[in-house]
Amino acid sequence: MAEHATHEASEAIGPVLSLVCPVYNEESALPHFIERIGEVLDPLLADFEIVCINDGSRDGTLRALRDWAARDPRVKVVDLSRNFGKEAALSAGLDFATGRAVVPIDVDLQDPPELIGQMLELWRSGYDVVLAARHDRSSDPRLKRATAGWFYKLMARISDTDIPENVGDFRLMDRQVVEALKRLPERARFMKGIFAWLGFRTTTISFARPVRSAGEAKQRYGRLARLAIDGVVSFTTFPLRIWTLLGVALSSASALYMLVIIFRTLIYGSGAPGYASIMTVLLFFNGMIMINLGILGEYIARIFTEVKGRPVYLVRETVNIEGSASIRPRER
Ligand code: UDP
Ligand code: MG
Repeated sequence: MAEHATHEASEAIGPVLSLVCPVYNEESALPHFIERIGEVLDPLLADFEIVCINDGSRDGTLRALRDWAARDPRVKVVDLSRNFGKEAALSAGLDFATGRAVVPIDVDLQDPPELIGQMLELWRSGYDVVLAARHDRSSDPRLKRATAGWFYKLMARISDTDIPENVGDFRLMDRQVVEALKRLPERARFMKGIFAWLGFRTTTISFARPVRSAGEAKQRYGRLARLAIDGVVSFTTFPLRIWTLLGVALSSASALYMLVIIFRTLIYGSGAPGYASIMTVLLFFNGMIMINLGILGEYIARIFTEVKGRPVYLVRETVNIEGSASIRPRER
């Protein structure tokens, strides 16, 4: 019940719109973002806040964010204690955002702010979630497009949760959806899957994804691969089940083969010693066992991180935020 009360309270005092911006080493892209966001939001509505999460940047990003927050009290800054990754930064932003509608947006202008107006309209007409799907990913490198395509195909096949393709974190969420999201305790934050799992009344608008305004992509392939494994492992147990199926298939096949050998020996007598066949079968099954152990390991590792119960992110400092957030930084 207490939860309901805070929900109502935040609805009563919060602005209409919160933008949530994870920022990591974006010194060069930030000025463009600040300019464009002002141009777009100012004519649209006055009652908004912009929650910027500095995800352990090592360049002048924090200074630039502070300057911005000093000029405009609607700009809030949450400085994380180190780089936790975009997903964690996003979680932090959602925890600190107080708006009745919340829109996560990248600061490299790859999520066009112009769509926010359209999102707000659809939200006012009754939708809880407005997704922005990119109908054209030609601005992404070919390898990234290909791997993303495979990943969505695989997930569609093996997971019960329908993860919409070509939808990133750029979307509008009603406060109700954000509160639901905050109740999920998991640490492996595969946001695309989590968002899809939530449900709610959802609609989609589409856009062509522009190229990065400045700087370079911060999410390396290695990290995206980890994210993909996280996605598979936290949204399906199919990799575990596949071994039961395979085991059954293989053992029935080998039982048949055993019968064949027995009858052949009875009829023709014992044949030549089958060193090669024994060796291949041995290696094959050893390989299978190792793969299976690896997959068990992936799940156990996730259980381990969940059980440790560490926070998803740590806050060093905040600017323009009063103590309303779930994780309160130390007073100075
Ligand atoms: N980002 C972050 N932490 C990270 C990596 C990225 O907060 O560890 C932010 C980054 O500043 C940007 C957004 O996440 O605002 C998207 O990053 P990027 O453009 O590198 O990703 P892509 O567009 O390739 O998905
Ligand atoms: Mg980008």
